[in-house]
Amino acid sequence: MIAYLYGHLLVALRKHADLAATLHLLEWDQETFMPSGTLAERARQIGTLSAVLHEYETAPAFLALVDGLYERRADLDPRQAVDVRETKWRMDRRRALPGPLVAERARVQAEARGVWAEARRDNDFSRLAPRLQRIVELERQFAAAVDPNRPAYDVLLEEYEPGICPARLRSLLATLREGLRPLVARLDRNGAAAKAALCGRFPLDRQRRFNRLVAETIGFDFTRGRLDEAAHPFTIDIGGDVRLTTRYDENDLRYALYSTLHEAGHGLYEQGLDPDALGTPRGTACSLGVHESQSRFWENHVGRMEAFWERFLAPARELFPELADVPLRSVLASANEAKPSLIRTEADEITYNLHIILRFELETALIEDRLRVDDLPAAWRAKMEEYFGLEPPSDREGVLQDVHWASGTIGYFPTYTLGNVYAAQLMDAAEASLGSIADLVRAGDFPPLLQWLRQRVHRLGQTYPAGELITQATGEAPTAQPLLDHLSRKLEMIESL
Ligand code: ZN
Repeated sequence: MIAYLYGHLLVALRKHADLAATLHLLEWDQETFMPSGTLAERARQIGTLSAVLHEYETAPAFLALVDGLYERRADLDPRQAVDVRETKWRMDRRRALPGPLVAERARVQAEARGVWAEARRDNDFSRLAPRLQRIVELERQFAAAVDPNRPAYDVLLEEYEPGICPARLRSLLATLREGLRPLVARLDRNGAAAKAALCGRFPLDRQRRFNRLVAETIGFDFTRGRLDEAAHPFTIDIGGDVRLTTRYDENDLRYALYSTLHEAGHGLYEQGLDPDALGTPRGTACSLGVHESQSRFWENHVGRMEAFWERFLAPARELFPELADVPLRSVLASANEAKPSLIRTEADEITYNLHIILRFELETALIEDRLRVDDLPAAWRAKMEEYFGLEPPSDREGVLQDVHWASGTIGYFPTYTLGNVYAAQLMDAAEASLGSIADLVRAGDFPPLLQWLRQRVHRLGQTYPAGELITQATGEAPTAQPLLDHLSRKLEMIESL
């Protein structure tokens, strides 16, 4: 009987997954090839399909099925129990929210995103402020509806990184902040020496070939995926068919290459999920932080190491004669250019996490009512000065640069740093298990590394919560030290070039 009920759950989850995949295809198309004049039609199609999916996911028969299976989860085999546990968790969170709150959150967020774009364009924070105030109140209400007994920020955080202990996250970020500040203070503030080698004239058709070659060489399967172009690079999974996007700059080889490596890292994760568990939680990525760990692993740990360029400088020189006489060490310096800067999305490895910590500190203060929205721009400037010694010339380069808060995603930023933290731990563990990763990369022998990630991360989906997955894969609970060690070594290398 229980096997029969679980079979029903599987059919339902796969149906939901098919609808979600169809939505993803429409969204991917909108961001890549859709003609610009049909936005309204596409928005309507996406709205219709989203409503159908919502109906399926909230159908009383489906909810009763999940509740019934959850009560008898002790009788399920452990893999099936994972699917029931995770489905129930998400369903209960949705169910806890009163309808009017759901509707108002969606409306206010959609509106605020539009207002944010105008406020940013006109460098006018005061226009966004009342909306942002409302968003903070609604996020507090959201958290209280889900669990009135826990701090609101902890509940919000869990929305994006289920399974990370909030107390551990706080102490991890505090350790990271104190460890990063002396490193950032050592950076050459001009960074001028480093830049040149990978800047010049790199024809786009040749860059496309180079980026595809790199993605293919590290293991991205082009029979089950594509690499295209988008204004804001992203990766999206269409039920086992993984679409990567990147963006090219004719004058800077780094821009597309490191976007491609980043997105290919996300894509390798999606392609590595258990195909037999497609559509179920076991066949779905563990968390945003774990997802980001896979992109950072390939972008930063593999893609910026010397051995990477020992492997790829020769094919790059064949495509780009400009690199013929550029020595490896100059290429390496260019790939690792680092200096304090105002904009998070353009930040290097060493400064990046301080940008996140700044946002984490401000958003917790907002939610805990220790900071007023009207005081946010000043608080932002004070922290930029404190952490980077920089003063944003305007709010456009300051508090208005990211859309996250206006989108209602408070508690999301830490997942970027958790990704970096997990990636450093995974790299150390892979090295302990496989021997020198640099030797493998130099030889272009990527399958052992990919297999290692497949086994310990990709194939497991949501079998374990994020903190536990990382503990099992690396032998240590999420901790800042491996990332700090990696960045210290990185800074020494930069200083030696
Ligand atoms: Zn990413």
